[in-house]
Amino acid sequence: MAPTHVLRCCQRGLAWIPVIFIALVVCWSYYAYVVELCIFTIPSIGEQSKYLVVYLIFFHLFFIMFVWSYWKTIFSQPANPSKEFCLPKAEKERYEKEERPESQQEILWRAATSLPLYTRTGAGAIRYCDRCQVIKPDRCHHCSACDMCVLKMDHHCPWVNNCVGFSNYKFFILFLAYSLVYCLFIAATVLQYFIKFWTLCRRKSAEHCPKNELPDTHAKFHVLFLFFVAAMFCISILSLFSYHLWLVGKNRSTIEAFRAPVFRTGSDKNGFSLGFRKNIAQVFGDQKKYWLLPVFTSQGDGLTFPTRLVNADVEQAAVTLQPEPNER
Ligand SMILES: [Zn+2]
Ligand SMILES: [Zn+2]
Repeated sequence: MAPTHVLRCCQRGLAWIPVIFIALVVCWSYYAYVVELCIFTIPSIGEQSKYLVVYLIFFHLFFIMFVWSYWKTIFSQPANPSKEFCLPKAEKERYEKEERPESQQEILWRAATSLPLYTRTGAGAIRYCDRCQVIKPDRCHHCSACDMCVLKMDHHCPWVNNCVGFSNYKFFILFLAYSLVYCLFIAATVLQYFIKFWTLCRRKSAEHCPKNELPDTHAKFHVLFLFFVAAMFCISILSLFSYHLWLVGKNRSTIEAFRAPVFRTGSDKNGFSLGFRKNIAQVFGDQKKYWLLPVFTSQGDGLTFPTRLVNADVEQAAVTLQPEPNER
């Protein structure tokens, strides 16, 4: 095997480490909550056992939703530009032979006339990826980690070892939402046992402890650590989740938040914003019953996006097409 090939295989393998780390933490959190807390600790304090069923039902509900959305974020293949965005064979050969950038741009402009493109490079040229040899659709960017052009690319996330973009942005938002709910639920329900363990009875068996006091068992480590880990994740996820909710409301990707897209009329950070409700529908779809489920309901094909400009034009067209009052 060539050394570059071996290196690439190693890189691919190492890229899974953050995902494996998260998976191990999640498996341990399941064991700590269900076995150590709900099976060993809570039954040892008789009067709290009535909460047990409620705890377990909600815990499993949040756990399933979290794992489902995480899974979908990791294993959704990033969407790539379709064939129409590739140059025809003859044009591609001419483009490669051509050395002058102006002549290359001419070839691209000719090929782009039939394509629905509204954005340009900062210099006003057609956006072209030399690596993938494709005209980049609006909001599409090349990811160096995935080595491909990704539609509506948001960012490459090491925690899911995947590109977050058009194909999985909804799943990513739900993954953040459910991980936050999961951690909040754990932190909130574990808190009272966390406090009890700090003030625990020093004896190793519940029989020798006063009523309502926890014995000093191996569950102590798991319960104390569970609270710390859940609280720590809550704080870090909350900021990221709030930021992405703000982006959804503005219909911006992370890349666009840092560098505004350039349209024919110039750069416009709100170029794809259609208003709060329509922006949310772009990612989550217009059927509210699917909003909380990690199933694909984002609008469009990822290749073209309605812009503020086009939207305004459509509205103007609708106004001019309305019949005059004397024609009715
Ligand atoms: Zn590319
Ligand atoms: Zn990527």
